[in-house]
Amino acid sequence: MSRPAKIGEPEKIREPEKTREVDATEYHIDAERLKGFLTEISAFGKRPEGGVSRLGFSDADQKARAWLVSEMRATGLDVWVDAAGNIHGRRAGTEPGLPVILFGSHIDSVPEGGIFDGTLGSLGALEVLKTLSALGSETRHPLQMVVWADEEGVHFGQGLFGSRAATSGPIRGELDLTGSDGHSLSEWLERYGQRPSEIDSAVLNPRDVTAYFELHIEQGPKLDRQGVPIGIVEGIVGIYRFEATVEGFANHAGTTPMNERRDAMFSAARLTQAVREEVMAKPGRQVGNVGLLKAFPGAPNVIPGRVQFPIELRDIDEAVVMEVLERIRGRAAVIGREDGTTIGITPFASERPAPTDTGLQEQIHRAARGLGLDTIRLPSGAGHDAQNVSRHGIPTGMIFVRSKDGVSHNPNEWTDWDDCARGVEVLYRAVTELDAR
Ligand SMILES: [Zn+2]
Repeated sequence: MSRPAKIGEPEKIREPEKTREVDATEYHIDAERLKGFLTEISAFGKRPEGGVSRLGFSDADQKARAWLVSEMRATGLDVWVDAAGNIHGRRAGTEPGLPVILFGSHIDSVPEGGIFDGTLGSLGALEVLKTLSALGSETRHPLQMVVWADEEGVHFGQGLFGSRAATSGPIRGELDLTGSDGHSLSEWLERYGQRPSEIDSAVLNPRDVTAYFELHIEQGPKLDRQGVPIGIVEGIVGIYRFEATVEGFANHAGTTPMNERRDAMFSAARLTQAVREEVMAKPGRQVGNVGLLKAFPGAPNVIPGRVQFPIELRDIDEAVVMEVLERIRGRAAVIGREDGTTIGITPFASERPAPTDTGLQEQIHRAARGLGLDTIRLPSGAGHDAQNVSRHGIPTGMIFVRSKDGVSHNPNEWTDWDDCARGVEVLYRAVTELDAR
């Protein structure tokens, strides 16, 4: 059943004896009610052309939050908003002293975004809790849904605000940033009824949390292409950025013979090609990108004397990234020698990979198998609140469902309602089976 994964393709994990998929009428969750929730929330920030623009910290976001809070209260949850603007809703457990099982996502969107990104995990969490109430089921642990504030971070240029504030705390100076709408993050928090000076009170104690689950659309094409309904996320990839600086010699572009040029742009172009070749040189899911080039002095009639550009590498395994980087450095040395340039590559920003908990991966796998659903394990190439929670020392599990053609952050983002229901039923089972364990 195992074959080596091709480049860019996760290994498919199929059960040896495929069980019949459980009919949706046998689900605990109510697929129609879930569809109703997702449709209702899509009215906030709705665009006539389709999709939503519901930026974190905006009027549309505030109205959607008010609607959600009233739905959560109507479900009988104990609801509060923490100092970072994260919305929490708790349902009590039967055994005193057990730490909560936490699950949720976000409801803010990018400009001209889709209606499933974040909302599926948020309204899916509410659906799980509504289902338990409707069934009159008790759980040993308290169950708590969370809707993280400003996941997309459009106004302030920094995503994952709420989950960061609830884990490592905000970045220094972050609350004083003025957003693209002219208001500071502090002002918005006040508008949301919070005291920014008390932001530290939003930090979760890992000992108070048994586990965190996040259900999300994949936002990539792997599940859809392979016809698999459920993805088990192995972790959120690490993002490593390096600054490459090529030093050549600026000279007259008309009079300098071609064989005497020390052309920094030519070396940069060759190195850009080398980045792609070295990333693809071995099988795996690693990706690399050169997204911009800056040439100096930057004129049509001057041979570039210096070129700077970022090299971005991503993978779930830091060792893979470092190995690719070493090969890129080797290529850079050769290119520099051949072209008479010098090339330096220095790290300037990195975010470590955030692996999910292997026990919770198994929990999700069992839940999916119980429904007769195929799964694959895959890393998330996009950032999620789950990465902050995982790095905070809270065991984290993440469930993906299919995005049609992998399209997301786009009004055409689509996940079939059946797939939404499959994902929420897997979440329901993962949470309740973990609770019973
Ligand atoms: Zn999202």
